[in-house]
Parts: sequence; C-alpha cells; structure tokens
Amino acid sequence: MLSRREPTADLARTCECAKPYPDRLEYGEPVEAVLESRRLNDLKSMERGTRLDWWLSHLNRCIGCHGCRDVCPVCFCTECSLEHKELISKAKLPLDSSFHLVRAIHMGGRCIDCGLCEEVCPARIPLRSLYKEVNRLVEEIFGYRPGSDDGRSPFSFPGEELSLPTGPR
Ligand code: SF4
Ligand code: SF4
Repeated sequence: MLSRREPTADLARTCECAKPYPDRLEYGEPVEAVLESRRLNDLKSMERGTRLDWWLSHLNRCIGCHGCRDVCPVCFCTECSLEHKELISKAKLPLDSSFHLVRAIHMGGRCIDCGLCEEVCPARIPLRSLYKEVNRLVEEIFGYRPGSDDGRSPFSFPGEELSLPTGPR
C-alpha cells in the first residue's frame, strides 16, 4: 500500500516546516515538526569572514529584477523603499548590497518562510536563509514568530489597533 507519510515528512524536512499539518487532521498522522533549521546551522558553523564571503558571492549575482519582492505575499506597500534612488543605486551591477539589507530588515517579523522569493529568483540566491536569520533574531529578542498565534507583531504601533485594508465586497 502506498504510504503517504514518508513523502510528507520529506517535504516538511525540505521546507523546514515548523507546523506541517493543520490544527485538525481529518486523515493520517501529523508528521514531525522541524524546529531547527539545517540551513542556519550550516551558516553558523562557518567562520564569520567565510560566511560574509559566502553571502557576497550569492548577493553579487542579483540583477535587481524585484521578482523576490513582487511575488512575496507579505510585501504590500504601495511605495517601496527598494525603488528609492537615494537609498538603492541601480546604476550598475552587481547591485549595492543595501538592496538586500533593506529588504531583509523589512522581512524581520513578517516573512512567513513560504519560499516563493527563492523559487522565482533567476540568480538562485538563497534568500530564505537570509530572512530565516532575521526572523530568528526577532524571535530571540521579542519572542514573536510570524505566522504563529503567539500575540501581536512587535512592530505594531503601541496603543494602536492594526487597521488592515478590507477586500472588495
Ligand atoms: S519566504 Fe518570506 S520573503 Fe520570501 S516570498 Fe515568502 S514571505 Fe516573502
Ligand atoms: S529575485 Fe533575485 S535577482 Fe531578482 S531582485 Fe530578488 S534577489 Fe535579486
């Protein structure tokens, strides 16, 4: 009989999924959650200089197509910092790494680790690892993990209710 458990467990491991099953299961067993990131562990095991070189060797391939931003389900600003000429120079390639720093900072506490940015990137830059690391820092400092039910984002404005846009009725 075809086992559905192993391929699902493989997927969870590949995606490093912390909750690879819904709250209520209608069928089968929940597969094991992956709470530690192999990607981040591999990066942490590198000496700092080597890690920086590793990142630059990837980031320098960026062609500034904005595909990572355009596909991202949590990028919804109508005005984007990545398009401010004073902030990001697109005069020459490789792009200034401020492009990636600005985007990574914006993803801290927001990225849900869906992996779409990495899938669409024509330069095959390991973007998930970058955003995983900023999210790890946010979780370490504020105890908040995006996509979980553990309270409000630390980047909500204190004393203000979030006012989210409503869709067409
Ligand atoms: S992995 Fe994060 S940054 Fe990349 S598309 Fe998904 S939510 Fe956006
Ligand atoms: S999708 Fe890749 S190449 Fe395009 S802007 Fe994003 S990181 Fe750069």
